[in-house]
Amino acid sequence: MTTHPIATLPAYQRLKAAAKAALADSDYNGPLWIIDPAIAVAQYQALRAALPRARVHYAVKANPHPAILRALLRQGSDFEIASEQELDQLLALGVDPARILYSNPIKARRAIRYAYARGVRWFASDSVEETVKLAEEAPDAAQYLRLEVDNASSDYPLGVKFGLARAALPDVFAAARQHKVDLAGVHLHVGSQCRDAQAWNRAVDEVWPVMTLLAEAGFRPRLLNLGGGFPITYDKTAPDIAHIGTALSPRLASLPETCEVVVEPGRYMSGPAGLFICEVINVQRKHGKRWVYADAGMFSGLYELMDGFFYPLELNGETPGLPDAAILAGPTCDSCDVLCEAMPLPRHLREGDKLWFYHTGVYTQNLVTGFNGMPAPRVVVCEDN
Ligand SMILES: *Cc1c(COP(=O)(O)O)cnc(C)c1O
Repeated sequence: MTTHPIATLPAYQRLKAAAKAALADSDYNGPLWIIDPAIAVAQYQALRAALPRARVHYAVKANPHPAILRALLRQGSDFEIASEQELDQLLALGVDPARILYSNPIKARRAIRYAYARGVRWFASDSVEETVKLAEEAPDAAQYLRLEVDNASSDYPLGVKFGLARAALPDVFAAARQHKVDLAGVHLHVGSQCRDAQAWNRAVDEVWPVMTLLAEAGFRPRLLNLGGGFPITYDKTAPDIAHIGTALSPRLASLPETCEVVVEPGRYMSGPAGLFICEVINVQRKHGKRWVYADAGMFSGLYELMDGFFYPLELNGETPGLPDAAILAGPTCDSCDVLCEAMPLPRHLREGDKLWFYHTGVYTQNLVTGFNGMPAPRVVVCEDN
C-alpha cells in the first residue's frame, strides 16, 4: 500500500493518537470512526490559500457531522446543500440562509418552498422544468445553471446525471424571461476526485461563453460556481491543492471583478479528517482465492471501496507488511456486500487484526444503513481544536 503524504503531518499523528486512546479506553466492540475537525480546518485553509479568488461553500453531503460543520463555520466557510435536512442542520448552527447555495439541480417542490421560506435565495437548475418550478416556488431567488462539462479526468464522474446541454440554453433563457427569473450565473462539476489540475481551467473555458450569452440575453450573470471535485490521496497520484491553485489562479484572475467565483469542495475538505477502524473476523480460502471478511462493509459506510477508492491502510495502527490480493467482504448476508475483488491486503492477516483506513472522513458515515442489524460504527470526535 502507499504511504500517503498526510503521514508526515501533525494531523495524522492526532488521528492516530485519538484512535489509540479510543482503543485503549475500552475493549474493541465494533467498528469506529475517528473524526478530527481540525484536519477539515487545515484543508479549508490550504484551499483558501491556493485559490484566494474563490469563496468556499463546503458541500454538506460530504460529511455532515456537526463538529465538522461547526469548525468550518468558525473559519468563515460558507455551505452548499441538497435537502431540507441539510438546511436545518446549518440553521441550527446559526448559518445565514442568504449565504447558502442550494446546488442540487433536482429538488422537490416542497423542498424549494421550505428553503425559500427560511431565507435561501440561491438555487441551481439544469432544466427548463426546474427553472419554471423555482420561479413558481422561489419567485425572486437567483438561479445558476448547472452546465454539462467534461468529467473524463475524474474517478467518480457526475456528468451523465447532471448538466444542461448547450442546445437547451435557448429554451431555458426563454422560460426565464417569461417568468422574470434572475439567471445569475453558471455552475459546473468536473466530477469527484478529479486528478487533472487542468480540468477546472478547461471547464472554465467551456462555460465562460455561457456567461457572455447570459449578459447578451439581458440577464445579470455574476456567479461562476466551479463545484467540487478537488482530490485527496488514495492509491493513484493526484495533484495537491497548491498545484491546482497554480494551474487555475491565472485564469480566475483574468475574469472581471464583478464575477463572484465559488467552489463547493466536499471530498477535499472532510476526507482526510476521518480514520475508520474495523476488525477482520474471518480469513479463508474459497475457490482458490483468499477471502477476508471484516465486521464492516458496504452497509457500514465503506461503499466507495466498491468504486475503487483504496483508502490508505495501516494494520493495527502500523505500516502493513507485504500485500497480496484478497477479496475483501463485509459481514452481512447480502452477496453484494463485497467491497473489493482484488485488494492488496497484508499476507498474514488473521482474525482479530484491525484494518485502519485513513481518508475515510468523506462519503462514509452518512451512508451507514444498519442493514442486517449491524451496529452503526461508533464515532469518536477529537475535541481539542
Ligand atoms: C457532491 C457535490 C459537491 C462536492 O463534490 P466533491 O467531489 O466531494 O468535492 C459539490 N457540489 C455539488 C453540487 C455536489 O453535488
